Amino acid sequence: MNKKSIRDIDLAGKKVFVRVDYNVPMDKEQNITDDTRIRATLPTLNYLLKQGAAIILAAHLGRPKGSVVAEFSLKPVAAALAKLIDKKVQFAADCVGREAEKASKGLQSGEILMLENLRFHKAEEKNDADFSKQLASLADVAVNDAFGVSHRAHASVEGISQYIPVVAGLLMEKEIAFLGQAVTNPAHPFVAIIGGAKVSDKIGVIANLLTKVDTLIIGGGMANTFLAAQGYGIGKSLIETEKIALAKELIVKAKASHVNLLLPTDVVVAEAFAADAPHKTVAVDKIDENGMALDIGCQTQQAFAQALKGAKTVVWNGPMGVFEMDAFAVGTEAVAKAVADSGAVSIVGGGDSIAALEKTGLSGQISHISTGGGASLEYLEGKVLPGIAAIAEVRHPLIAGNWKMHQTVNEALALAQDVVKLTAGVSQADVVIAPTFTALYAVRSVLCNSKVKLAAQTMHYEQKGAFTGEISPEMVKDVGCEYVIIGHSERRQYFAETDETVNKKLIAAFNYQLTPILCVGESLEQKEAGQTNSFVGGQVAAALVGLTAEQVASMVIAYEPIWAIGTGRTASAEDANAVCSLVRITVAKLFGDEIAQKVRILYGGSVKAGNIAELMAKSDIDGALVGGAALDAEGFSKIVQY
Ligand code: ADP
Ligand code: MG
Repeated sequence: MNKKSIRDIDLAGKKVFVRVDYNVPMDKEQNITDDTRIRATLPTLNYLLKQGAAIILAAHLGRPKGSVVAEFSLKPVAAALAKLIDKKVQFAADCVGREAEKASKGLQSGEILMLENLRFHKAEEKNDADFSKQLASLADVAVNDAFGVSHRAHASVEGISQYIPVVAGLLMEKEIAFLGQAVTNPAHPFVAIIGGAKVSDKIGVIANLLTKVDTLIIGGGMANTFLAAQGYGIGKSLIETEKIALAKELIVKAKASHVNLLLPTDVVVAEAFAADAPHKTVAVDKIDENGMALDIGCQTQQAFAQALKGAKTVVWNGPMGVFEMDAFAVGTEAVAKAVADSGAVSIVGGGDSIAALEKTGLSGQISHISTGGGASLEYLEGKVLPGIAAIAEVRHPLIAGNWKMHQTVNEALALAQDVVKLTAGVSQADVVIAPTFTALYAVRSVLCNSKVKLAAQTMHYEQKGAFTGEISPEMVKDVGCEYVIIGHSERRQYFAETDETVNKKLIAAFNYQLTPILCVGESLEQKEAGQTNSFVGGQVAAALVGLTAEQVASMVIAYEPIWAIGTGRTASAEDANAVCSLVRITVAKLFGDEIAQKVRILYGGSVKAGNIAELMAKSDIDGALVGGAALDAEGFSKIVQY
């Protein structure tokens, strides 16, 4: 998932609204009994301070249900944070209104302000628009570092994104990286271990993971329902009788999807649910009438550990037994050890699972411990979390190579093959090459299994007819192109293309499901006359006439300073970005900011391996349209790899 984080934006001098999860446990005297959640945010806060931001912290505590309840004040949390971060933390007695506004207005770069409990207002959980707007008015940008509340569409998490951009904090970034990877692109073998009390809590997770894992391990109380589904008598063990049919279905589904489903083969049974109850290990077909299965047995532990050997991804949610009692914690400990030893990317979620893991002292050997119980379950269920959906997306970089009037068919084939080979490992960028028309058909054959896509260098806007020498959109599509370059400066300069024909071509491209790469740029004369902005802005506006917002969001615009072509002159990265920003602003004026944030804007003026880093670091440059350097497979691939 390509979500923007605090590392992608400029924070200096900005007021930053940071939603954190400070819902910490407290005793009766409001002493914080566990400050893990506060400590977990320190990297994000320190990063923001170092970048020169002013921090406005927002959180909830307890369940005040929309009214002011003194015992749920965040004041003690502000004091605890001040100690941990060794810095003054100002406090506003309300999260919106006069008090909050005054405090945020006076806040300087490097200072921290904490707002009072968001849930003192009903509007927070109702995701009220006006309340969201008031929160947004306190800051320039919002940071979501509260993964644990991101499965709820609340004002501070979701609604606020309607008014100011939201980016991920470092904690959130880590959650998305690990859980996102496990859900969308896990390394195999992928083993999931699901346990805990009830099947009903985790049906969604089991069902979704069944479509992704190689092995599914089920233990804990919920395994009893599966044992019953297999026909075993399970005595007085915890069971959800009404879920037996579902368990049967899941067993069938696992078989059909070739998932290796592992259930306990032996269990530790006791006659009472008590820490000191006498207990013994028996095979699952030997549980007597009064027996209660409270942990997995020795044979099962070994089988589970064996299944974890060699795993590349492990997701674990739910203990294997009643780990709160030492006598029944052995199975959970054995699995924790096996996960730690597996060498896999390991992800553990769930409040009790984490508590069990802490007890074993093996937490340090787990790749990622998810902070959000409900949120991580919903993520593993494959649901879209509203708080994550609200985080702005990073535009996927695109590098396009324009081969212009170079390369015979054989040369083009060789070059394309090299580009495919040298860019094979790249997953973070789209790669497009634009060979001459005569080579397109041949080159298509070497691209079929690669990520490199084909573009035409130009096309006509008419569908067919007496246009000697021209190529129609349908022909471009037919030969295998997904992209088409439109209005390249050379086309405008030597072949009399106008804003009007460029516009017609864009419309034609969309009619044939081609993604246009619209080129714009100013001449030396225009630049020297100070007309860059008005001219380039005018080109963009004229080109987009009649397009839908959706079309514009999906297209690519390349800024090519004509004065830099073949003259050896180049724009500085700052100047290039300034014009790219102007292009984006122009799109925003016409189609709104949300669309403008999606358009990919390339820079195309002597981009080389040597200057790509500097260009890509800029806020509005999303890639490059590479000319001369695209004819050198190695140089071009270096640009892509960057
Ligand atoms: P998590 O919080 O990690 O998601 P759950 O809340 O689903 O985990 O389940 C944890 C609870 O399940 C623990 O309180 C544990 O005692 C209970 N449990 C595990 N195995 C059994 C069992 N065999 N019988 C009864 N309760 C069990
Ligand atoms: Mg729990």
